[in-house]
Amino acid sequence: MKKNIYKFKSEIKQLLNIMINSLYSKKDIFLRELISNSSDAIDKLRFYYINTKYSKIDDTKFNIKIFINDNNLVISDNGIGMTKEELINNLGSIAKSGTKNFLKSILNRKKKDSNLDLIGQFGVGFYSSFMVANKVSVYTKSIMDKNGWLWISDGQGKYTIDEYNKDNLGTDIFLEIKDSCKEFLNIDFINKIIIKYSNHINVPILVKKIDKKNNNYIWKKINISDALWIKDKSNISDKEYIKFYYSINPNLGDPLIWSHNKVEGKNDYINLIYIPNTSPWNIWNRDEYKNGIKLYINRVFVMKGINKIIPYYLRFVQGIIDTNNLSLNISREILQDSNFINVLRLSLTNRILKLLSILSENKEKYNIFWKEFGNIFKEGLAEDENNRYKISLLLRFCSTFYNEENKLVSLEDYLNRMLPGQDKIYYIISDNFLSAVNSPHLEIYRKKKIEVLLMFNRIDEWMMSYLLDFKNIKFFSINKNDINESNILTLEKSNIHTLNDKNSLIFLSKVKNILLDKVKDVKFTNKLDIYPVVVTTSTNEMSTQMSKLLSSVGKNVPKIKYLFEINPNHILIKYIISINDDNLLKKWIYYLYNQAILIETNYLDNSSKFINLINDLLSMLIIK
Ligand code: ADP
Ligand code: MG
Repeated sequence: MKKNIYKFKSEIKQLLNIMINSLYSKKDIFLRELISNSSDAIDKLRFYYINTKYSKIDDTKFNIKIFINDNNLVISDNGIGMTKEELINNLGSIAKSGTKNFLKSILNRKKKDSNLDLIGQFGVGFYSSFMVANKVSVYTKSIMDKNGWLWISDGQGKYTIDEYNKDNLGTDIFLEIKDSCKEFLNIDFINKIIIKYSNHINVPILVKKIDKKNNNYIWKKINISDALWIKDKSNISDKEYIKFYYSINPNLGDPLIWSHNKVEGKNDYINLIYIPNTSPWNIWNRDEYKNGIKLYINRVFVMKGINKIIPYYLRFVQGIIDTNNLSLNISREILQDSNFINVLRLSLTNRILKLLSILSENKEKYNIFWKEFGNIFKEGLAEDENNRYKISLLLRFCSTFYNEENKLVSLEDYLNRMLPGQDKIYYIISDNFLSAVNSPHLEIYRKKKIEVLLMFNRIDEWMMSYLLDFKNIKFFSINKNDINESNILTLEKSNIHTLNDKNSLIFLSKVKNILLDKVKDVKFTNKLDIYPVVVTTSTNEMSTQMSKLLSSVGKNVPKIKYLFEINPNHILIKYIISINDDNLLKKWIYYLYNQAILIETNYLDNSSKFINLINDLLSMLIIK
């Protein structure tokens, strides 16, 4: 027979190499991945039937069968199957984006094997079968195809696809087990793995057992495969909830918290939702990522990740909804727009926000949540205006109260610590934690013991344009200069060092001249202490972070003209004021200006010029 040989895409070759040579101790995860693929395939076929002429489906005929045949472990399903194109696309030649990301995550680790069980999270779970198999054969027949196909590979760079006469729909995967993995040819061992990872899969998993009495064999159902969610809460243990969670998404670790409710009446549904402790790798990919909510209608799985079922900023939530309110043969389009889905969204949103509020009482767990999902959750301020207050209660920030990156405060904490007379919530936005916490803008606030929230995530500037106040207290960005200085200082009448003497005024106008095309204005400030200078913008102007944000997405933004503020009490400034040589003065002013820009933006157009300037000035001081 002529073989049709194909080559794996190079990334997949690399992935297969890792699998084949893996000494990973948790090899048994391959079975979880194959079972989950089979169960998906069955869900897809069910859904296909629901949406076509077969509106009545016999749910009892779907199953996954597992048996041992010579040196092969076989996983067989009667799901949707694959066409030839699908075989090529899904199992071989076109690299899925997940392959790259998975490789990246594995290759970055010191111990390369340490986390292979994340494989399913990247949408490349199928390949884990090569950890235990020399050769994998996939017999499959799709509902879309007259023919069946046989895909074979030993994982060494090539695979073959040939026509194959298969009677029934679905996919049989034959794994020729490696000599070093013989335990996977022991059916009792396989049963244990099924129960460990796949107990709650919503399809019966049948295992072939020899019936010694009748010299025959029987199919024994191994998993519970019940709909856990329809049971009474009081009869479900935490352990069962967690196991069930693994059956809907085996790759996200233990959940942080969950909520299980039955709603009866006009709207009739059950929800079981979980807050994960890790995010799927593609959660930031708008085109690819679907939320983790599975919709069931009368216990029949219909669809995962319906757009409108929860708001986008809550897309990290995993779980299931089961309802009697929809009819099974509802089309996708109608479903998306149905009134009931709207009702669901509102009530799920409330439940999730409440769940998060309960979670927030456990600081340690909430920190995990915030680290993983905080930046996604912040999107809610824009997306969900009606819940803005509830969302803002759940926000967490770094703050000058701790000056530590992993100690967070809430807005309520902040309010409780405000000083008498303080009427604003102060915050600073910078590129990263260190440049925020060391910013010259903070000096005066530190001195006055006023707490400032430290923001340094890309989304923060955008977020703050939606968050104007909290409990009627306005937010104020201390990167801005239009706060009336005496305002911060009402707590203690300022001893503003007003420099009205002639020398100082001449100095100011010289600086203005030197920086003419670069800055908006130049003035003295009493906000600084250890820093000699700082640059600021005012509220109605574009801020540094916004300008960075815009240019990072390719917008053409004009260079910001800052207000250049000088600390007249600084020893350097006192020295510079006394310089008479205009050329030398120019050098010093450029030096001051560039350091202020560097601190504000973390970036200089011409850093080597700046370094040369510093060296120049230092050399002059030495020679002197
Ligand atoms: P994922 O399941 O995350 O997409 P996998 O590597 O596990 O990634 O599987 C790749 C794809 O191969 C699946 O998305 C599916 O389209 C197809 N596939 C795998 N196993 C089966 C199966 N038993 N029946 C039908 N399609 C399958
Ligand atoms: Mg899979």
